Amino acid sequence: MPNPADVVICGAGIAGISAAYHLSLARKFKRIVLIDERPPMSFTSDKSTEAYRNWWPGPDGAMIAFMNRSIDLIEEHARQTNNAIHLNRRGYLYATGDPNRIPAFIIAARRAAEQGAGPARVNDYGDAADGADVLTDPALVRKHFPYLTPRAAAVIHARRCGWFSSTELGAHLLEAARAAGVELLNDKVIGVDCAGGRVRGVRLGNGGGLPTGLFVDAAGPFIAEVARYLDLDLPVFSERHTKVAFRDHLGVVPRDAPLIVWTDPQVLDWSDDERAVLAEDDETRWMTEPLPGGAHLRPEGGEGSNILLMLWAYDAQPVPVVAPPEFDLSFPDVVLRGLATMLPGLKAYYGNAPKPMIDGGYYTKTKENRPLIGPLPVEGAFVIGALSGYGIMAAPVAGELLAAHIVGDSLPEYAPAFLLSRHDDPAYRAMMAQWDDTGQL
Ligand SMILES: Cc1cc2nc3c(=O)[nH]c(=O)nc-3n(C[C@H](O)[C@H](O)[C@H](O)COP(=O)(O)OP(=O)(O)OC[C@H]3O[C@@H](n4cnc5c(N)ncnc54)[C@H](O)[C@@H]3O)c2cc1C
Repeated sequence: MPNPADVVICGAGIAGISAAYHLSLARKFKRIVLIDERPPMSFTSDKSTEAYRNWWPGPDGAMIAFMNRSIDLIEEHARQTNNAIHLNRRGYLYATGDPNRIPAFIIAARRAAEQGAGPARVNDYGDAADGADVLTDPALVRKHFPYLTPRAAAVIHARRCGWFSSTELGAHLLEAARAAGVELLNDKVIGVDCAGGRVRGVRLGNGGGLPTGLFVDAAGPFIAEVARYLDLDLPVFSERHTKVAFRDHLGVVPRDAPLIVWTDPQVLDWSDDERAVLAEDDETRWMTEPLPGGAHLRPEGGEGSNILLMLWAYDAQPVPVVAPPEFDLSFPDVVLRGLATMLPGLKAYYGNAPKPMIDGGYYTKTKENRPLIGPLPVEGAFVIGALSGYGIMAAPVAGELLAAHIVGDSLPEYAPAFLLSRHDDPAYRAMMAQWDDTGQL
């Protein structure tokens, strides 16, 4: 019989690593084993845009409180590592070309302020580090963001936002967890044994097994598959999200720009000939039709880099998870055109764009885009997942919250908002039914 583990964590993405790190800090367990069939951080967690934000307007302040705590923890890791994680606070800039949306921008900023995201300031732009600045005067928008289209009618600059290196953070947490005794095992979990209504151990792809009384499902896009080993159905689905790394050798986007989002739906500006050809074919007609808001980019890399990361989830819909994910080769052209609507300088690349690098992965999520963190309805089983498009920024607090559930520490106020059992609560369902903005990018 192998030596039993106190806790087995399935999945060494950022969620499983953060769970292992926080469980090791609790110093209550002799043997914590983190199992992954792939190298740590290699499936989704090294494919992200690595951005963070406390800008999460919602029906309650749960996501804001959760992210504020996570950002506190990220800042602590930046201090511990002498900022080896390259944390910045450039902000997120949400832009619209539609003057009719200005009242909604102001309401969103005030509401976020009431929920704890920091003060809302309207047309009073300074260098605040928290809250949100709303600029509703196009002249002010142009003054502060001259590279945006002259059509930009208003922007929200949310300030407690930016980006950092997820791989550096993952490496730091994993190193600290391993130094505290966490074992990393390269294997596949192929089953979870239960008896008497509780977890007894896991079965492994190498033919062996590992007895344990505590099992954590941190399997990222595979959390539902792993939960089925416990005869549980998780209310999650996955969308494929693609990212392009683009060499901006003409310097269209300033290297000190924030993450910039065009929030309006749009129709792409093909030439008449291009439009006619695309519209003729059933496979490409969608490129000539209205596409949703949310095209975004940010500069990537330190001195000497000219890389932009470009994203736009215009095709987000539930899809089966395949490994490795496959990407649509028309994406770079579509995302470039979508972003040129807000940054017209990018039009210089039409027809002669440098060869893009494409990657990405899955957003595995619940319908309301909130995570699952806490106990499952089998004694000894827990989940940390459905981290959608915010798992990097949320991993520190998610790991801390999961560890508090397992160890039995007191729980923060936002804990109930992320339990699997919330879906059984009619009041929660009613609240979410009245809210249609999931905050997703
Ligand atoms: C294009 C894109 C952009 C994104 N941008 C951002 C962003 O800007 N900011 C942000 O915060 N988040 C972002 N995200 C989201 C973030 O990357 C994810 O939420 C996060 O990486 C999920 O981490 P995870 O640990 O849950 O999953 P993963 O990193 O996928 O890890 C799960 C691990 O479980 C392992 N596993 C699964 N099943 C088994 C099994 N049976 N046995 C053993 N091992 C198993 C897998 O091998 C994998 O390594 C983005 C995601 C994408 C795709």
